[in-house]
Amino acid sequence: MEKPLLCIVIPCYNEQEVLPKTAPLFLGQLESMAREGLIDEASRIMFVNDGSKDATWELIQGFSRQDPRFTGICLSRNRGHQNALLAGLMEAKDLYDVTISIDCDGQDDINAMSEMARAYLDGCEIVYGVRSNRDSDTFFKRFTAQSYYRLLAHMGGEVVYNHADYRLVSSRVLQEFSNFREVNIFLRGMFPMVGFKSTCVYYERHERIAGESHYPLAKMLGLAFDGITSMSVKPIRIISGMGIFFAMFAMVLIIYVLVSYFSGHVVPGWSSNVIATCMIGGIQLISLGVIGEYVGKIYMETKARPRYIISERTQDRQNGEKYDDCKRLQCKE
Ligand code: UDP
Ligand code: MG
Repeated sequence: MEKPLLCIVIPCYNEQEVLPKTAPLFLGQLESMAREGLIDEASRIMFVNDGSKDATWELIQGFSRQDPRFTGICLSRNRGHQNALLAGLMEAKDLYDVTISIDCDGQDDINAMSEMARAYLDGCEIVYGVRSNRDSDTFFKRFTAQSYYRLLAHMGGEVVYNHADYRLVSSRVLQEFSNFREVNIFLRGMFPMVGFKSTCVYYERHERIAGESHYPLAKMLGLAFDGITSMSVKPIRIISGMGIFFAMFAMVLIIYVLVSYFSGHVVPGWSSNVIATCMIGGIQLISLGVIGEYVGKIYMETKARPRYIISERTQDRQNGEKYDDCKRLQCKE
């Protein structure tokens, strides 16, 4: 097999403290893979600036001036990690043979890239980076994350256990993936749906090199909930099941009430009344909330707004035709 042209896609949001430390590491890894003959010499690193408010974009521009192997695109505003990653992957899909997506904070072990590239040369189209441990996480994050993966699997969402967004994807898969037009995206659950031959590569996850996580509890819960509701309709089925159960329960209760009424054993059943009202009321509210969540998703999907808008690139695409192509695609999206 010919040596593939690789693009390492790295989303960055307010990462001015981290980038100067990790950018040389990524470049070093690119060089060592090229030396080993795993990838083409012309492979590149693409930073996606996700509307950072600090000097991240200036840093990226500086890198690309110093070394043409650094490239970058800038989104017109902050769109969140998943959209930023998508923007980078869609940008790379026509220009490179294969992409590896990774966070810019040095938490994921970059050495695993070599193994990913080897798996690609062996014929795998998707290679999932899977954490072999979670020692660097707090107990809380570890517990919630693992319970969540289990819940998601239970709900029918097909995700690779302990895999986040560190993965190798071939351009062939990305071409197919570009037909997934949804705006509520959860990439780690969507790639398994594309299919093709895939495998896992295990690595140890480290502490963040500098700066702070952008995933505080609220955002983490948001992603977790999006994951379930954009992947599965099982919560709706559970509601239907609960509805049937309580309807049957109510029938039995009515018979019991009628029998008590006609046999004259009526007591002022204030407490049972209140309990029943509260319970049913509560369940109804939760159910409405869950259904509302899906309705909200449908609302966003029918709007089909662009998932990201690229405002700037470190370099114009060499191939004018592809550049125009890309602009047309973005308008359509
Ligand atoms: N990120 C992004 N947009 C955002 C938030 C985060 O592009 O709105 C990037 C961030 O720069 C990093 C990656 O997504 O490269 C993962 O974020 P972070 O390390 O903060 O999350 P954690 O690893 O703590 O889950
Ligand atoms: Mg991180």
